[in-house]
Amino acid sequence: MEDFLRLIAGKRSLCELKRQVKADPGLSAIYPASIHEVDGTVLFIKKTEDGKKLVAAGGGSKVFVELKGEERVQAGLAVKECDLTVENSKVIRKYFPFTNPVPLSPFDATIGLGDRLGLASPGHIRLIKNYKVRPVLAQQSIRELNLTGRDYPGVLADAVWAVFQEDYRGGFGADGDHLKSMDEVRMALDCGFTMITLDCSEYIKNLPSDAAGEEVDRFYGELDQDERKRLEMYFLGRSFPVSPGLTLSFSPESLRYNAVVYQKAVNFAIKVYNELLKPAGDRVDFELSIDETQTPTDPSSHFFVAAQLEEAGVKVKSLAPRFCGEFQKGIDYIGDVACFEKEFKEHVRIAEKFGYKLSIHSGSDKFSVFPVIGRETKGRVHVKTAGTNWLEAVKVIIEADPALYRRIHVFALEHLEEAKKYYHIKADPRNIPDINTLRDEQLIELMNQEDARQVIHITYGLILQAREETGEYTFRDKIYACLHRNEELYARRLQEHIGKHLQTLGLS
Ligand code: ZN
Repeated sequence: MEDFLRLIAGKRSLCELKRQVKADPGLSAIYPASIHEVDGTVLFIKKTEDGKKLVAAGGGSKVFVELKGEERVQAGLAVKECDLTVENSKVIRKYFPFTNPVPLSPFDATIGLGDRLGLASPGHIRLIKNYKVRPVLAQQSIRELNLTGRDYPGVLADAVWAVFQEDYRGGFGADGDHLKSMDEVRMALDCGFTMITLDCSEYIKNLPSDAAGEEVDRFYGELDQDERKRLEMYFLGRSFPVSPGLTLSFSPESLRYNAVVYQKAVNFAIKVYNELLKPAGDRVDFELSIDETQTPTDPSSHFFVAAQLEEAGVKVKSLAPRFCGEFQKGIDYIGDVACFEKEFKEHVRIAEKFGYKLSIHSGSDKFSVFPVIGRETKGRVHVKTAGTNWLEAVKVIIEADPALYRRIHVFALEHLEEAKKYYHIKADPRNIPDINTLRDEQLIELMNQEDARQVIHITYGLILQAREETGEYTFRDKIYACLHRNEELYARRLQEHIGKHLQTLGLS
């Protein structure tokens, strides 16, 4: 390290410094792409036993003064060693504009890469650099924050540090995912997030599509009279050409059904947009999610929602319907691919008509429908993944510390019922082989077994938050330490796994 600081003191160029780091095994703790310079101060990230540090070498600049850390003189240089905190990330964002999140709606293909541990982004970035896809690196729902014990400033800071470490200049997004209230949206906006995914599910009435007419009529009668009049004027007795071959129209019955199920959600979305999103202007992308409902979103319902948002002047950048079949966490699509394809095409045409992208939620591992999604959207689509990145981390633990995995596995099975309160899955633990009968080298097979995948997928919060009677974490610190030690392996795993997503989607 002393030698490296001497090179910096000798005013070597950034190129030379990077070359030196790559060539000298003694400097392998320094991330070559993380070496940056501003106003005579050279900054870089280095790996230590128990975490990463930002080093600022060469005082006298504003950035050096503003960063918080331990100061010393070494190789004749003022050196500051800083923790990768939220506070320091804000200093980095100020001096290195490419580390700020941006709205990604101008880009066709985008992928949400939810990173529950805050460790996955470097691997994601290394992959994405080779694709025509832009990443949303910071993407967490309130449910995930609660389950992992993190917060938005921390989630964004982790993404910022990864972008700085990998010198990624393509632009990344920060998505406040599945926000359900004005307060949650406000909080994400205050934290500088550049995408808001409004989840209207609490305003959607879960009424089966074959609900009895009298029941629908009764609920319809409860809606505001002026509103009913407006809807009838707008939707009845008209046909709506969407695209060549697709024209929609509404019967009185279908209008009443859609109004009962979706009208409150539409009104809520308009209110949130007008009060919070509109003032933020082009700085923030607005996504509407209507996917967490009990029944799939019929294309006509999609149109019913979209047409009203457009009328109200709401600028939607992406919309997530619930598609037919099942998009369960961490496993492939369940359902009839041909039926999916037929409906999906109509959703795409509707999205195109209103000028936004479709957003595919629970989009990880849906390999059997990715070709349809890629082809029909012509690559103009947003796909969200999250838990699958955690499962790749679990694979690393299996390989690097099988004993730790065995304990996690037993714990997850014991706490499955608790986790099912938050996530809907079909997993049956009886299908999972008894871990005591598996040799260490067989454990990895569990991550190819759907039931085991889902169990580990949804119990992450309980695993990460479990504590011993002494107050110390049962697994959390050990998981982080293991992944820190095996950082390169984790990055490779992610590149492989998410790379397979991008290839199957045809986004290469
Ligand atoms: Zn969703």
